[in-house]
Amino acid sequence: MPSAEHFLTHVRSELLSLQEAGLMKAERVITTPQGATVRLADGRSLINLCANNYLGLSSNEAVGAAAQATIASHGFGLSSVRFICGTQDIHKTLEQRLARFLGTEDAILYAAAFDANGGLFEPLFGEADVVISDELNHASIIDGIRLCKAQRRRYRHNDMADLAEQLQQARAGGARHVLVFTDGAFSMDGTVAQLDVMRRLCDAHGALLAIDDCHATGFMGATGRGTHEHHGLLVNGRSKVDLITGTLGKALGGASGGFTAGPAPVIELLRQRSRPYLFSNTLAPAIVGASIAVLDLLESSTTLRDRVHANTRHFRQAIAAAGFEIKPGEHPIVPIMVYDAVLAQQLAARLLELGIYVVGFFFPVVPRGQARIRVQVSAAHSIEQLDAAVAAFAQAGRELGLVR
Ligand SMILES: *Cc1c(COP(=O)(O)O)cnc(C)c1O
Repeated sequence: MPSAEHFLTHVRSELLSLQEAGLMKAERVITTPQGATVRLADGRSLINLCANNYLGLSSNEAVGAAAQATIASHGFGLSSVRFICGTQDIHKTLEQRLARFLGTEDAILYAAAFDANGGLFEPLFGEADVVISDELNHASIIDGIRLCKAQRRRYRHNDMADLAEQLQQARAGGARHVLVFTDGAFSMDGTVAQLDVMRRLCDAHGALLAIDDCHATGFMGATGRGTHEHHGLLVNGRSKVDLITGTLGKALGGASGGFTAGPAPVIELLRQRSRPYLFSNTLAPAIVGASIAVLDLLESSTTLRDRVHANTRHFRQAIAAAGFEIKPGEHPIVPIMVYDAVLAQQLAARLLELGIYVVGFFFPVVPRGQARIRVQVSAAHSIEQLDAAVAAFAQAGRELGLVR
């Protein structure tokens, strides 16, 4: 007879097999705000190179002050979904400000970008439609597409010839609407999608183009609008990408929250039908107020955006000069290639002893034999901190025989 004990035995054996495969993720406990340096529960202070804190806004004073002022003016929580009593004036303001920042007609807030992607496809696309997705797209995009009835197609990562082939086949199959969806910037490689090429291909096949710009909003492009601006697809302040999803949980302050931006009727239909929007609590006022302050900051100056790129150029140049192989590019995500999974873990562990917090990624997060250390550069880092990190990399790399 199956029982709770029987079930727990099954769960324990699942955990054991994760452990045996070396796939258990341990959570490191931090006792300070997120920043260029953090302190661990055991008291060690580390230079932090693994946060999505691209602009250093996670512990920015003005942003924190805006959050506190908004708690004073609008309270802590709303205890409601948006369509009952969870919409304040500031929620409408933030949606308008995000739309303006990204160059779209409107925007809709979610509790997370995971929800924005999870709730995007099912209300908009059905059996007659085709969604074409990059094979390395984020898990939330994959899940969101699974929830809709549209025909699904995948193209090889960043492979424009394969995308053209998929578009052709979708059209040949008589699709009603065709949507191409890609991460604007890919988190494991720092690759920026070829949106200029993709826009031309989509236009040639009458397809819509959508991006998830979680690793770009706030700092990619000349004024930090994102990968569409980076690729010249923000013309006179208007986005040439049809739909943009994004997060408030990375460069834009790093708390939590997500959004979808696009044409007004699309956003309106999402308000009516998108399940994570309809059936999940409104965004906390403090986050909304702080996010408006973040947009004020980014629209008034490109200082932080410029700093993260200057820091990135410095770090990429210095780590390459130290003999490490990096994936080329200009994104603050800098993959330092180790290839061997065990070596990558040893390198990360040694760096931690040397006061540098980085994480090794290996299969199944990246392909087998492609293990790496992913460094994420921030505007909050000083040049001295970045140089100290490179020196530690060089020392640990020499000890492990990775560099000379
Ligand atoms: C981080 C990330 C998400 C999830 O964002 P949350 O707001 O934390 O849910 C979605 N898509 C991409 C590409 C991401 O990098």
